[in-house]
Amino acid sequence: MIEVTAEALAGARLTIHVDRIVANWRACQAAAPSAEAAAVVKADAYGTGIATTVPALAAAGVKTFFVALPSEGLAARAVTPDTEIFILNGLFEGAGPVLDAHRLIPVLGSIGEIEARARAARTQGRRLKAALHIDTGMNRLGLTLVEAERLLSETDHLGALDLCFVMSHLAAADQPGHPLNARQAAAFGAIRRLFPGLKTSFANSAGTFLGPEFHGDLIRPGIALYGGVYHAGHPPLQSVVTLEARIIQVRDVPAGETVGYGGAQAVTRDSRVAIVALGYADGYHRRAGSADGARGARARLGGIECPILGRVSMDLIALDVTDVPESAAHAGAFARFLDETITVDEIAGHAETIGYEILTGLGRRYQRTVSGA
Ligand SMILES: *Cc1c(COP(=O)(O)O)cnc(C)c1O
Repeated sequence: MIEVTAEALAGARLTIHVDRIVANWRACQAAAPSAEAAAVVKADAYGTGIATTVPALAAAGVKTFFVALPSEGLAARAVTPDTEIFILNGLFEGAGPVLDAHRLIPVLGSIGEIEARARAARTQGRRLKAALHIDTGMNRLGLTLVEAERLLSETDHLGALDLCFVMSHLAAADQPGHPLNARQAAAFGAIRRLFPGLKTSFANSAGTFLGPEFHGDLIRPGIALYGGVYHAGHPPLQSVVTLEARIIQVRDVPAGETVGYGGAQAVTRDSRVAIVALGYADGYHRRAGSADGARGARARLGGIECPILGRVSMDLIALDVTDVPESAAHAGAFARFLDETITVDEIAGHAETIGYEILTGLGRRYQRTVSGA
């Protein structure tokens, strides 16, 4: 058996700082002291890893988790035996018995799902747990207010269920001045009156920092836990991912020559170029490169900023390391692409997307290390 380190086999490494995820969750709880702060851990805890992030949050006091899918609920349940786990995307046909066997609770978002859940409860002769999603302006999942009123006045479906809370979801809370926020808050007030005594859940990360009228009993922060921007133009909480990639070789490129596919960027001076083992197959977006006059994202090496040269390839990125001393810019050294100063939202800005997509798109080829567990 030949022994090699994981580091020798991977091109790039991710360090997930779970202690900072926990600190960010505490900051969300502090912003909504009268509510319980849950944690949204869908999409493998926004790319940070359910298997390590969920136990760290549970140990810090998180009692309620949200995932999108039943499969994610199972992954979370495997590492947290005692917490409540809700499935935001609802009751998929055929999933009910699996959910109940693992104490995963569906958030019901249509009359059809409510009927199916109530039917299963009557068949089993017991009240089954569920949460209720009512739409207030997103027009994605959830009953309309009119449907909710009819459900209450014309059916006894809810009597067959053990309802944990009623929730709604904000569509534009990342823009605190957006008129939709006040409209949704007013509609949420109507929901409260429709279900007196039932617990409520309204705020995502952005809503958590929008004020108490958005909190209800249970807040559902996601992106804020992972260091992404939740209010446009405002600094996020602590960044939680460090991404470093290995330099494979350093080469000289004379002024006027181009670097990478399409010859899309020429160097304007005699340059030293580091070729790094990271690419779009790792979730580092192709659009974050420099091509056709657009300035791309940056990395850092030996404390010095290094712009990306040319297009991002599947497995490789070229960095301009002309200004970096050779003692730092050499084969085997690691350049930083993501940390406290180069944020997911900065990369997202270059890639014309949002920090959420950068985090959830982090690839499978990294050597992953968890820090602060
Ligand atoms: C994803 C999601 C959240 C978390 O949103 P963030 O913007 O990441 O805080 C909360 N509620 C629902 C219904 C969601 O789908």
